[in-house]
Amino acid sequence: MTLDIKVVAYFALYNNKKAGVNNLFDQVKSLIKRVFAKEHSPSEFPRIISRDHHSISRAHISENALKVLYRLNSSGYEAYLVGGGVRDLLLGREPKDFDVATNASPEEVRKVFRNCRLIGRRFRLAHVYFGREIIEVATFRGDSEAGGERRSKDGLLVRDNVYGSLEEDAWRRDFTINSLYYSVKDFSVVDHVGAMADIKAGRLRIIGDAVERYREDPVRMLRAVRFSSKLGFVISKETSKPIFECAPLMESVSSARLFDETCKLFLHGYALNTYEQLRHYGLFQYLFPSVEKSLEEQDHEYPKVFISRGLENTDRRVAEGKPVIAAFLMAVLLWESVRSLVAQKCEQGMRPMQAYQEAADEVISQQVKYIAMPRRVSLQVKEIWIMQAKLGMRRGKKVFELLENQRFRAAFDFLQLRHQSGEEVSELYEWWASFQDCDLENQEHMLSELRKRESREGPRRRRGPHRRRRRPKNESTGE
Ligand code: ATP
Ligand code: MG
Repeated sequence: MTLDIKVVAYFALYNNKKAGVNNLFDQVKSLIKRVFAKEHSPSEFPRIISRDHHSISRAHISENALKVLYRLNSSGYEAYLVGGGVRDLLLGREPKDFDVATNASPEEVRKVFRNCRLIGRRFRLAHVYFGREIIEVATFRGDSEAGGERRSKDGLLVRDNVYGSLEEDAWRRDFTINSLYYSVKDFSVVDHVGAMADIKAGRLRIIGDAVERYREDPVRMLRAVRFSSKLGFVISKETSKPIFECAPLMESVSSARLFDETCKLFLHGYALNTYEQLRHYGLFQYLFPSVEKSLEEQDHEYPKVFISRGLENTDRRVAEGKPVIAAFLMAVLLWESVRSLVAQKCEQGMRPMQAYQEAADEVISQQVKYIAMPRRVSLQVKEIWIMQAKLGMRRGKKVFELLENQRFRAAFDFLQLRHQSGEEVSELYEWWASFQDCDLENQEHMLSELRKRESREGPRRRRGPHRRRRRPKNESTGE
């Protein structure tokens, strides 16, 4: 830049001989402007940001990721830390995982690391194992032109994956902020797409034409929502606007992939905000159609309040470092569908336990068409719901069996959520809250009191899930 300014000044003075002294200042100004604009135009990329101009320190990078980078370098390959790892480090956050990009082919990577497995059929990736940590190593991907573009029957773009250069790899990534490359050779960061400016501005911007990129892979719309919630970034207009029209493309995404994505969307501490954005962009209906339908149809607030509280609860647990399970989340999101089905079945005279069993099976079998919950998860979801019926029964020995059940905590938390959201289960909730804290003597006393009350009032005829109270209870004020 200093040299450029000298050259600019020289030409300005040279021209000035002809143009006159008055023009000197304007000419220098306009030439500096031109040089400066060139420096910031896309053709000036890549920008190499040297160690003293960024905040990434090796101390914050996993030792195993560093080992992979150094070993690839010393074996003669280019290797960079890339994606969320670089992005999160620049933002002062702890990365979830570390991904590496290299010019070594997957087979070459495997030769360098013994603890390595190749995965993926269409595009092979190398996983390097260090105990429980996996470092994912991807070969630079080439651009679509070279690989050829195909369209599937429903018009979706399908790109055959080919290997390419770092620059091509940078352009095929989803968002600019995910396309920064950190080198351990000189600790610089390489930016091909204007990512640094977006990181500084807190802006999420898709690389390339948004409609085309969403047609290639509709999951990028979910990722846009996820990153903007997680990072608190504003989605740029050219990235957000096309989501409304492209949302139906979600129908083409496999249900297995949507299970993984849904977990990422809702289990990382930003579930409530993510849910609100998904509904705003019309994406939620492609994940949970029955829930969207009941949210639109219900004239009362209960389902909305219940979901919001459930998601807030999940976010709070993540913030406190407590475990969160996919099953609880699914049970929360789908509860309204189960609840209304149980109510219908009970109205028709079915016994509550059977109504719960049937409703749970129906709701789950509909939902797995969209999000393929593994069987292990759907069984847990069902158990949480069925236990709502069991918690309502409170019969002798069964009460103690319930307390011992490994799903009791989740089922009780679920009951608490129903109570806090305004469902009429306060007596039941409070009974269980004190029962689990009593000693055996007091527990026996509570049970005999309950029996006495029932024989006085006659056995309560259960009619499935309780009707809502008029207004949800405000947790903080207790009003
Ligand atoms: P995090 O791991 O924090 O969820 P991430 O950005 O690392 O975020 P990953 O799913 O681990 O996300 O993907 C790693 C990188 O691979 C991304 O940063 C992005 O550069 C690229 N990538 C992932 N999915 C896509 C996609 N659907 N289209 C284009 N690039 C993608
Ligand atoms: Mg990642």
